[in-house]
Amino acid sequence: TGLSQGFSRWITAALMTEHSERLLLPAGTTLFVEGDPGDVAYLIKRGRVSIFLNRQGQEIAVATRGPGELVGEMAIIDAGQRSATARALEACELLVITAEQIAHRLQATDPILRMCLSVVLARYRETVALFGRDAPPAAANLLGDVARVGSADFNAAIETLVLERALRQALLNKELVLFYQPIVQLEGRRIAGFEALARWQHPERGLVPPDQFIPLAESSGLIVQLTQWALAEVGRVFPTTLAPALLAAGAPAVPFISVNVTAIDLARDDFIATLSRMLHASGLPPRSLKIEVTESVLMQDPDGIARTLQACRALGAGIAVDDFGTGYSSLSSLSLLPISTLKVDRSFVRSMLSEPASRKIVQTILRLAEELGLPVIAEGIEEEAQARALAAMGCAFGQGYLFGRPAPLAATLELLRGWRARGTERATARPIPATVETTEP
Ligand code: C2E
Ligand code: CA
Ligand code: CA
Repeated sequence: TGLSQGFSRWITAALMTEHSERLLLPAGTTLFVEGDPGDVAYLIKRGRVSIFLNRQGQEIAVATRGPGELVGEMAIIDAGQRSATARALEACELLVITAEQIAHRLQATDPILRMCLSVVLARYRETVALFGRDAPPAAANLLGDVARVGSADFNAAIETLVLERALRQALLNKELVLFYQPIVQLEGRRIAGFEALARWQHPERGLVPPDQFIPLAESSGLIVQLTQWALAEVGRVFPTTLAPALLAAGAPAVPFISVNVTAIDLARDDFIATLSRMLHASGLPPRSLKIEVTESVLMQDPDGIARTLQACRALGAGIAVDDFGTGYSSLSSLSLLPISTLKVDRSFVRSMLSEPASRKIVQTILRLAEELGLPVIAEGIEEEAQARALAAMGCAFGQGYLFGRPAPLAATLELLRGWRARGTERATARPIPATVETTEP
């Protein structure tokens, strides 16, 4: 075994050279010895590795690992000592995995996952200690202090666990509500449709905004149920209540409702079936439904996402690209995707009157949209001057606090009733400019 003392160090050094990530070992080679520092793990591609303890000159077999299995993984997670000896039983082909390759991934992962891993590791070290040999505690733990009660990581993990359970319960208890925010034609100021935005009516916390539970819903997978709920809710409310109220308030012929969906939703095989079922069951005209997808989602998996979006279009629904301008979509990918509307991100609208760069971006997006034949909705309009500037630049639609904040259904119907009244005033006070009108964003 003397041969293998420091063997793992040799491998680390070998790793620096070009052809080292594949290791070919003759049968009988010792990979590492109990007590060695653990700095790499090995994925077995071919051959078998025996793991054993050496006690009073006796080899006590612990396990045999074969192709597809890992050897030495525990020691790289906590940079501890090897708890056993590993030897190639046959000629082996191994792939080396370094601690460095793992470290970044561990830090980037979910704190709950890290907490579980570090508990598994601690249990492992406890068990190892039972086999004698004074295994000192790990030097530097790649997992950090995630499992230490009171640490920031631990608190974050606990908070996430509690919130996740509460969100699951909220979906069952119907604590989620949809708020509706008007989307307005900038010329003539008719409300053309609404965006549906989720809120959580928490029994103790009150109204929880979506940025506090949508990311949680995404990381836990609950977003699938949340999106299904939002689609069902829109299917329930829009045809019977919102659409008639919109038409009565002077909306164009095909008023619409936008629903936000995520990459997780679109990646599911059953998304189209669910959507199609909802459309049939609710009587929501597909042309009235707009699926909002952020630009960053579109760029993640352009091919896979494009297929799902194409199927949405085939059902008759529209696709709006949300937060447009913040991602890095190329002109070519945009023209390949089945998009029907662009939504200019609120950050550009906010600064467009004070910063020439923002104004230029808005102008460029509008020109691009015209080129692609797509109507544009400007998000986050808070001031009349912004609405006018956007209208003058040829932007057809606007959304923002200027026209209305997201509001529950009752308040939304109230807004529509008031809008009808104001609409009459406006029509008499100020003639509606004679421009080409886009009625369907
Ligand atoms: P978003 O899709 O970009 O929605 C627009 C957000 O901008 C809304 O925030 C809206 O209240 C806010 N907003 C609208 N006009 C103005 C304005 O004039 N000024 C300012 N400062 N803000 C304005 P909200 O409702 O808090 O939603 C935040 C985000 O949460 C949404 O951004 C969306 O990404 C996500 N979200 C909301 N509901 C859902 C949902 O049902 N499903 C999914 N997947 N995501 C949702
Ligand atoms: Ca949106
Ligand atoms: Ca947006």
